[in-house]
Amino acid sequence: MELLIHSFEYFSKPTGLVMNRGKSNIYFNGTDEHHISEVEKLTGMKRGNVPFKYLGINVSPKRLSVMDCSCLVERIVERIKRLGSRKLSYAGRIVLIKSVLSSLHTYWARIFVLPKTVIASIEATCRSFLWHGNEQKDNPALVSWDTICQPKRQGGLGIRKFHEWNLAAIAKYAWWVATKADHLWVRWQTWTDSGQSYRIDKGYQWLLPVGAQVSWFPWMNQRWLLPKHSFCSWLIVQQRLLTQDRLMRMNIVNHNCCYLCGLHEESHDHLFFECVYSKRCRALISDWCQVQLPGTNSILWWLKWRNRIVGRKQGIAVILAGLMYWIWYTRNQCRIEGMLWRPEFLVQHVRSEACMRFKVLKSQNVNSAT
Ligand SMILES: [Zn+2]
Repeated sequence: MELLIHSFEYFSKPTGLVMNRGKSNIYFNGTDEHHISEVEKLTGMKRGNVPFKYLGINVSPKRLSVMDCSCLVERIVERIKRLGSRKLSYAGRIVLIKSVLSSLHTYWARIFVLPKTVIASIEATCRSFLWHGNEQKDNPALVSWDTICQPKRQGGLGIRKFHEWNLAAIAKYAWWVATKADHLWVRWQTWTDSGQSYRIDKGYQWLLPVGAQVSWFPWMNQRWLLPKHSFCSWLIVQQRLLTQDRLMRMNIVNHNCCYLCGLHEESHDHLFFECVYSKRCRALISDWCQVQLPGTNSILWWLKWRNRIVGRKQGIAVILAGLMYWIWYTRNQCRIEGMLWRPEFLVQHVRSEACMRFKVLKSQNVNSAT
């Protein structure tokens, strides 16, 4: 008992902390009532019960239950309700998932191993927010959450896998034990002998399966592209937009006719490459840029062509990504309101948006150079 009191005073002194014993509790485990009351008398602190809340988190000697984490899920849902009221693009929602929603999870995941049910619930909420802007978990998604969580090099969007990140964060404590008491943890010697300190992001990458780089990674991640164009191109290259041929296969619609020309079946290849409307738009872009665009009908081939372009031609990549985005936009307008933009008007829109983008990039380059 004396040892406990001395230790308590010893650890309080160097930090210079003044403890308010009236507002502090002391917690016991496996101690008989006689000793508990003696300690309470000596320290002047009351006995506390677990679980208790510290900085909004339930602290418990046991593994966290689903109920203990319910407030975390509720907080994320509440945040989504607030964010969902704004009109956000997909690109904007991705930024929010990466920053705001993931940070709520990160705070907990650095301290506890979260139950898998809770992680699945958080992922479902984030998935719904990305595709529908709300927290309803049973909504369909255009791309699986697993693909979205792949690194960008492997065709994903680079959103963290919550479970793996949780394990990587907790492994930091294991690393600390292994390096501070390595004589007790001989089997971890190889792990710690590398001489490097542990980093959560490195541990996370170590937990992810290794995959091959996708061919369209270089252009998808160039900073020239507007995020909304980049996201639309990402869906197109995977053929995940809800074109009429896909909707018909799902038995959602009863015709698969192209909204732009009204002549052929609407598929990804037709809509962006084979359709007379799209061909007319590309011819107008060619005239404006004074460059011959490849006459292929394959999305992947076209994207590979864009991979090779450098310097001035990077600008053409921005224009083509914009063109695909606005073709899809006007197609949706036509489906909902029955109004189709003329190709000249659409290309004019692409041109003014691209020119504005170039101006911003140029001013950024000037600012970074000065
Ligand atoms: Zn068509």
